[in-house]
Amino acid sequence: MRKRFLSLLLTALTVVSLTACGAEKPAVKTVYAMDTVMTLTAYGKNAEEAVAAAEEELYRLDQLLDRFAENSELAAINANAGAPTGVSDELAELIALSRHISEKTLGAFDPTVAPVMDAWGFGGESPRVPTQPELEVLLSTIGAARIVISYEDRPRVTIGSAQALDLGGIAKGYAGGCVKEIFEKYGCTGVIDLGGDVMLAGKKTDGKDWRVAVKDPNDPSDFLGTLTLSDCAVVTSGIYERNFTEDGVLYHHIIDPATGRPAESGLVSATVVCADGAYADALSTAAFVLGARGAVSLCDRFGTETPLLELLLVTDDGRVLCTAGLDGIFEPNTESGYLYEQLS
Ligand code: AMP
Ligand code: MG
Repeated sequence: MRKRFLSLLLTALTVVSLTACGAEKPAVKTVYAMDTVMTLTAYGKNAEEAVAAAEEELYRLDQLLDRFAENSELAAINANAGAPTGVSDELAELIALSRHISEKTLGAFDPTVAPVMDAWGFGGESPRVPTQPELEVLLSTIGAARIVISYEDRPRVTIGSAQALDLGGIAKGYAGGCVKEIFEKYGCTGVIDLGGDVMLAGKKTDGKDWRVAVKDPNDPSDFLGTLTLSDCAVVTSGIYERNFTEDGVLYHHIIDPATGRPAESGLVSATVVCADGAYADALSTAAFVLGARGAVSLCDRFGTETPLLELLLVTDDGRVLCTAGLDGIFEPNTESGYLYEQLS
């Protein structure tokens, strides 16, 4: 059993999409976008068309949402900080959703972390630990409440003159949701794996749920259990992505907007299951920053906005905490060495 999972994990990243014997062959496409290797797997008569359209959509969204892309709408807002910038309805809506989630997570998710991210240089060639005075100056720029969106002839976004937007905490989940819609438009089911952000479109061809392996944040080549689900998003934020080590300390890329430093909330990963990809992504980042106690409150606060909201958190003292709704859905990997507890 364990061997079968592991061999599948190697080829399919976090997704264990077991199809019934003799089931139709899927169309599979690997796409590199948003700095991530993505795997699209579609089943159905129009599967080839669906993955081709999905690939185009991912390139389009990469261009729209990458703050470093030349001529991207997001880069234009940042370059024009302090003054209104005309944007597409789509980008205005995603920024409005980011601001809304920021407000309701009491700033744990904050799309204005860009200046702090840049000071740390995560993902770049020379990451470094910024000084405390440097961070304090940058912290004064943070705050999604300062984002103004106005709608006249077209939407316009204004950010504070020292601010910059970074949608890295929500973009992949949003993109996953867009690809899921494309799969549905083409009458396909399938798995959209955007490197840690997974969207499940419909069910498997045999009518059963998909199985998604949740990576072990302390050893991402292993897994700590599987989730059996369909038609939803499963997104994980963890310490194992985009990090660097200095003087024996690991610095990861999920920033606590209150301190400007990598969040130290007692968690090493936070997985969110819910209906909507963008919510799942933003809330996984927020849950990671808030820690186990704060994260639980997200279920009450956001449960009506995005149905099926459940959490699976891994603590730095070796516990896996799941909300009650994952009973019968999450199957622990008993060999992983974690203690499994209910989160309430
Ligand atoms: P994720 O992997 O979804 O948790 O997102 C992490 C990415 O989101 C980082 O690479 C940053 O681009 C951005 N980010 C980091 N910290 C935050 C935060 N507290 N709120 C919103 N976005 C963040
Ligand atoms: Mg996220």
